[in-house]
Amino acid sequence: MTTDLLTNAPEVEAPVFPPRPPRQGRPTPHISSMDEYKKMYEQSIADPATFFGKMAQDLLTWFKPFGKVTFGSFKEGNVSWFLDGQVNACYNCVDRHALANPDKIAIIWEADEPNQHVSISYGTVLAEVSRLANVLKKYGVRKGDTVAIYMPMVPEAVYAMLACARIGAVHSVVFAGFSADALRDRMLDAKCKILITADQGKRGGKTIQLKKIADEALAECPSVHTVIVFQRTGDAAVPFHPPRDVWWHDETMNQRPYCPCEPMNSEDPLFMLYTSGSTGKPKGVLHTTAGYLLGVTATTKYIFDLHEDDVHGCMADVGWITGHSYIVYGPLANGVTTILFESIPTYPNAGRYWELVDKHKVTSFYTAPTAIRALRRLGDEHLQPYNLDTLRVLGSVGEPINPEAWMWYYKVVGRERCAIVDTYWQTETGSIIITPLPGATPSKPGSATLPFFGVDVAVLDPQTGKELVGTGVTGVLAVRSSFPSIARSIYDNHERYMDTYLKPYIGYYFTGDGVTRDKDGYYWIRGRVELDVINVSGHRMSTAEIESALVQHAACAEAAVVGIPDELTGQAIVCFCTLKTHTAPQATDQTLLAALTSQVRSHIGPFATPKRIVVTPDLPKTRSGKIMRRILRKVAAGDVGEEDVLNEDVLRLKLGDLTTLADPGVVAALVKRVATSQ
Ligand code: ATP
Ligand code: MG
Repeated sequence: MTTDLLTNAPEVEAPVFPPRPPRQGRPTPHISSMDEYKKMYEQSIADPATFFGKMAQDLLTWFKPFGKVTFGSFKEGNVSWFLDGQVNACYNCVDRHALANPDKIAIIWEADEPNQHVSISYGTVLAEVSRLANVLKKYGVRKGDTVAIYMPMVPEAVYAMLACARIGAVHSVVFAGFSADALRDRMLDAKCKILITADQGKRGGKTIQLKKIADEALAECPSVHTVIVFQRTGDAAVPFHPPRDVWWHDETMNQRPYCPCEPMNSEDPLFMLYTSGSTGKPKGVLHTTAGYLLGVTATTKYIFDLHEDDVHGCMADVGWITGHSYIVYGPLANGVTTILFESIPTYPNAGRYWELVDKHKVTSFYTAPTAIRALRRLGDEHLQPYNLDTLRVLGSVGEPINPEAWMWYYKVVGRERCAIVDTYWQTETGSIIITPLPGATPSKPGSATLPFFGVDVAVLDPQTGKELVGTGVTGVLAVRSSFPSIARSIYDNHERYMDTYLKPYIGYYFTGDGVTRDKDGYYWIRGRVELDVINVSGHRMSTAEIESALVQHAACAEAAVVGIPDELTGQAIVCFCTLKTHTAPQATDQTLLAALTSQVRSHIGPFATPKRIVVTPDLPKTRSGKIMRRILRKVAAGDVGEEDVLNEDVLRLKLGDLTTLADPGVVAALVKRVATSQ
């Protein structure tokens, strides 16, 4: 276990923003005071069986009632919820709303081109999902089989997930930006027999050759016997190999638009999903049916404060857990309208998100700090033409949001009228675990604030594993007892699950993230324990803190900070910065470098003086937009030379798994910049 963690962080002082009272004509929040939150939270921890037993009856529709509410422990690795209940996730997300109100809009699909969108009713979703479920059955898919989904952001991607859930197949969605190798590895690992994909994808005006990439992957996956191909573009040049390949439209046309739902045991698997790979080889995280579904239904309802007529706009991709939980399962289980966005925030211009909010009257909006920082960098004028008045809740997820970006989101996007919810969670937790609640929690920019119901958070001393009690403590973030949506295993590798999450600190779920609990009991996520803490001459500091200081400089758009070995000080700080376009001075400008250095010194202290600041056009990010510090650390340490960049194998050897890197070209540019700016 790593020992790299700041153990004596200063008390965090931050401004506090109380919840905004609801504007006229807007609904009263579900949880409307701190007292109410505290009362419910305490009850959820003291008596989870009663709390979640009632919630599961209130929020989900069961085919057969469950018996015992919760069983098993982190110690044993046998966590289970709602034992012997029978439920179907698709029924809860589609049928129950379609039966009551078939014309209600379930999905608004905003296509890549801004003038194209389609509104799809719950009744239509039921018919389309049923047809596809019948196709899957025809090709031999049965309860418990794994189906790979490699789809662009089209409604059919959602239908594919729900069709699997309907018949009890386990879906494994692979983000459509992944390469053939990454897709192949995931299909082999999950032993898939069926792949659902599309001819091509569209994103930011570009065409992605999904079927071609899939074919490359399939060449080394002999167990996949059927490939269902959805026609997104209809390009005649797309390769097609019958009888293995079948067209989605041909197949579904011949199927009945109704298919019964398979009654699933609460603990039957619903899906598996690979983590982002920020820290190493991705893990095939396994989620089960009832606990996951309850977790996402409850968090979507309370954290985005969803009411009957709301339109929820989560800008993630369905290929990530955020898309699974907060585009598909959470909003649909609540029966609201969910937005499915095919494009990118800067296509055709940086006003795209705001145009979408205006056009579809979005009430809650959810994106990642990387997008918020990018849009802040491009300037406020892109928001001017749009009416954002319908917005009530603005969410952030994926990385710590630095206070500068938080304030921009709050002031410029939210016009100081919206709640900002900085939601902390992981692929493994299935749903949000630390977050403010819009009507209740006073916010502090940069803090994910307080735990959600049922999440019993502990801060542990990284070395001894002892709980650090009280306030003003920093350690590793762990959870004391299970909550419904926590992952149950890693697919076909329960030992890795135990080793990664449950064995580091016996009796706890270990998140891998460092955290500070401040004087008010608020939680501040400080990044990965192994990577995101730097120790300079015994001073431990989190990379997030230094990055926040840098981003406060007017010219700096984004910053990533790493520690490299240093003979004198143990570790030394290296900062990588990108600049705002319209204020961009010369990258080698000595005045700028000096200003950035003094920014860090004055915000954190002279002990945090960077050894080096590298101004670079771009940072290496995962395909979900997270900065990959493990790459930066090696580049900064000089482990990779300019000649290594030319050879892919050498690069992989030196830098580890690069399949999750969004733009492989970034590495060469970085290495060059580091070499020349010496
Ligand atoms: P891998 O586990 O493969 O390294 P990953 O951890 O990036 O990849 P995810 O499950 O997508 O994969 O991300 C979860 C992580 O993202 C958390 O452990 C945390 O480090 C970070 N994170 C998510 N939300 C927040 C947030 N609101 N504040 C701070 N960090 C966050
Ligand atoms: Mg992780």
